[in-house]
Amino acid sequence: MQLTIHRGTHEIGGSCVELCSSSGNTRLIIDIGLPLVNADMSPFDWGTHRKSTLPQLLSEKILPLIDGLYENDKPAITAVLLSHAHIDHYGLLRFVHSDIPLYMSVGTKSLAEVSNVFLNTSVKLDRVKTFEMWQPFQIGEFAVTPYLMDHSAPDAAAFLVEADRQRIFYTGDFRGHGRKGILLERLTKDPPLKINYLIMEGSMIGRDEGLYPDETSVEQALHDCILSQKGLSYIFTSSQNLDRLVSIYRAARHSGKTLVIDLYTAFVLDKLSVISPVIPQFDWKGVRVLYSYYHAQKLADLDKALLYKYKSAKIELEEIRDTPNDKVLLAKDSRYFRNIITKLKDSGKAIAIFSMWHGYLEKNDLAQFLESNEITLTEIHTSGHAYVSQLKSLVGALKPRFVIPIHTFYPEKFQEMFSNVIKLNDGETISL
Ligand SMILES: [Zn+2]
Repeated sequence: MQLTIHRGTHEIGGSCVELCSSSGNTRLIIDIGLPLVNADMSPFDWGTHRKSTLPQLLSEKILPLIDGLYENDKPAITAVLLSHAHIDHYGLLRFVHSDIPLYMSVGTKSLAEVSNVFLNTSVKLDRVKTFEMWQPFQIGEFAVTPYLMDHSAPDAAAFLVEADRQRIFYTGDFRGHGRKGILLERLTKDPPLKINYLIMEGSMIGRDEGLYPDETSVEQALHDCILSQKGLSYIFTSSQNLDRLVSIYRAARHSGKTLVIDLYTAFVLDKLSVISPVIPQFDWKGVRVLYSYYHAQKLADLDKALLYKYKSAKIELEEIRDTPNDKVLLAKDSRYFRNIITKLKDSGKAIAIFSMWHGYLEKNDLAQFLESNEITLTEIHTSGHAYVSQLKSLVGALKPRFVIPIHTFYPEKFQEMFSNVIKLNDGETISL
């Protein structure tokens, strides 16, 4: 079998792995992500490339050079398999030839559908085959077994790929300190045996672990912060970080307050109800939905009935202005929310909680904007990625013959941590 990491050997983002069977008859692509950085490590901005043609994107190396994968080529790839619905793992999927089958989990498909509606990801999802966790299935000559992993994206998978007497384990993104942390514990207690190659993410290598070690401590801190706040609380987070939405919902409820979400978040939660009946929904006690014209328009384009569906929980801005003390408002750094914050300025002293990776805060002027509106800002967050100790415990349990770094800025640090590291370069092919 042959392995090529088309991108991700020296960076976080843009992950793309190819496995080719020794017969050459099965070629599998795992993840096809949008880069997060340019070659010079400056932040990648898709907006500047949005109008580029496929050949332009290939020549600019934004699309990895993979023959038989894209719409302009004769298809020669057996399938594309996705680990989870983060844009740095599937953001280039729209360029994949429409005859190539796609495999993903039910939750990943749901989030891809949401992003098609709200984030213009334009992925054709009609040819998607969904898989069940821990149920092996066949892609050409490869036997693939997905493992449900704890990550900030719900329904994220790792994959065991078997063929030609090789057993490869690709972790995707994972951690052991979220709401499903038990999954990593179970995996290390009862690991798949005789792994030859472990392709493992290392996002947290070289990064600060932060103030909050796990999702439980995040929920507690959110609760304490919301409870002691007399006025309105804004919480900035990603609507696709399900663990965090659950933490925020629980923190608000246990503080006796109402969580106000936007239409986009209501739709995310609704779509994810297929993976679990205990995901908070728009019609649960203590949840209200704020309609924006933009979001309503997007939903109406998809299905007008959805606007009526969520209407029973609709809240008007006036109600938040009149009773800010018992409201927690889920916010984004967008023109719409900045407008809302400005409009609600006269409703009393508000606080803001930034519940996302600290790096995002450094890339914009949100902190200054909040300060100019006399809103104090607190950061409460835990990472979506495994700590170094968790990476070590996974390697210790799987005992792979070789570890191959991916999704890290510091692949050389793997060599300091593990004895059997194969450090690849993007586009380099090795025989397994
Ligand atoms: Zn991820």
